[in-house]
Amino acid sequence: MDALAAIDLDSVAAVQRYRIVDRLEIARRRQIAISGEHTARLEHVPGCPPVPITLADVLRISRAEARRRLRDADQLKQRTTLTGEPLAPLLPETAKAWHDGLLDGEHLQVIQRFLRDLPDHVPPVEIEKAEKSLAEHAVTLRPDQLAKVAHQLSLLLNPDGTFSDEDRARRRGFLWCGGQRPDGMSVGKLIADPQLRAMLDAWFAKFAAPGVCNPADQSPSLAPTPDEAERDLRSHGQRQHDALTALVRGQLGDPKLGQHNGLPVTVIVSATLHDIQARTGQAVTASGTLVPIPDVIRMATHAYHYLALFDGVTGRALWLGRTKRVASADQRIVLHAKDRGCTRPGCDAPGYRTEIHHIDEWAAGGHTNVDTLTMACPPDHKLLDQGWKTRKLPDGTTEWIPPPHLPITGGVNDFHHPDRLLDRDDTAPSDGAGGEAA
Ligand SMILES: [Zn+2]
Repeated sequence: MDALAAIDLDSVAAVQRYRIVDRLEIARRRQIAISGEHTARLEHVPGCPPVPITLADVLRISRAEARRRLRDADQLKQRTTLTGEPLAPLLPETAKAWHDGLLDGEHLQVIQRFLRDLPDHVPPVEIEKAEKSLAEHAVTLRPDQLAKVAHQLSLLLNPDGTFSDEDRARRRGFLWCGGQRPDGMSVGKLIADPQLRAMLDAWFAKFAAPGVCNPADQSPSLAPTPDEAERDLRSHGQRQHDALTALVRGQLGDPKLGQHNGLPVTVIVSATLHDIQARTGQAVTASGTLVPIPDVIRMATHAYHYLALFDGVTGRALWLGRTKRVASADQRIVLHAKDRGCTRPGCDAPGYRTEIHHIDEWAAGGHTNVDTLTMACPPDHKLLDQGWKTRKLPDGTTEWIPPPHLPITGGVNDFHHPDRLLDRDDTAPSDGAGGEAA
């Protein structure tokens, strides 16, 4: 690598520079293939989280990327039968080109997507042929060109576009595309099965009609007058958005939904009392979503308890429930405000996805008060049975201490507290000063 970095490009002819970059690319792809072979052999180490999470933490890559690398490695690795006979990889021809350093990750994605989207009725022998053909084309084509070949192949294999219930079921999904954008908005991708689409259409027919659920109206109407419908300037997309808001808002907080981790199924928001009084700034929900304070106040006006205030200084009423093994609802709300999510360093699991951990083990006579509680996501919670220790630091944060010799470091999790990323020496009021709201 050092020799390559030291090449004096001024002495290299223009055409040679392309050759150098090409050779580097092949070398890089081969490295990735070798790394994949090793990745496929990773095993769970006691005291570490499950393999995908450990891999993400050790390499400092996202969990989605870690899962993708594990899946790729699994499809491209040499396999053996139970009796030790060598067995071709799941994607045999693709794997050959991959290990020769001839394919980019984008080529691989095109082939994986093609195979994933094939309907069940295509016979295995046709699938094998298609994989071989795509792998051969991938060696000479760019990924975008390969995608066109893949599209033509899928039309050839499924000319009538026949898909079974299972094919459709495999594809359904709803995902947020990444985090919130800087303006606070989020983009999601919904792949609805016919049933969901039919139901949503029925809902939209009524609640996305002009004049219905219009936030611009003083009191949004369910049976708008012609005048209200006339005044509605929202686009079709905006009306459907507002109809979804109404659908979910009508459900959240309803006692018949039961509880989630000991709290009603509703939006839990933490913010400082100062921001609420000043009607500025941002609150953070237990899913890690930032919500502008005016929106929080608007949400709170729609019945159900979205917002509960408590005294962040004295912590009064939070010392109840000592005799109960289950942390009381009050304490959970306080923890949502204090910890906001899993407290293991680097973990991004938001509050909704956490369990309550008792720092003084209950069995050893610990008390259930909020100073001895912290939030941990289920995989990290399990680490505490595998040699990990936690302790509260004087500033109320939780330090995680791994057993020795693990590839993972301990410490405090600042992920859910962007405010801590700034200089800690400034004189801004710390947690508790002036009270908090959750
Ligand atoms: Zn966690």
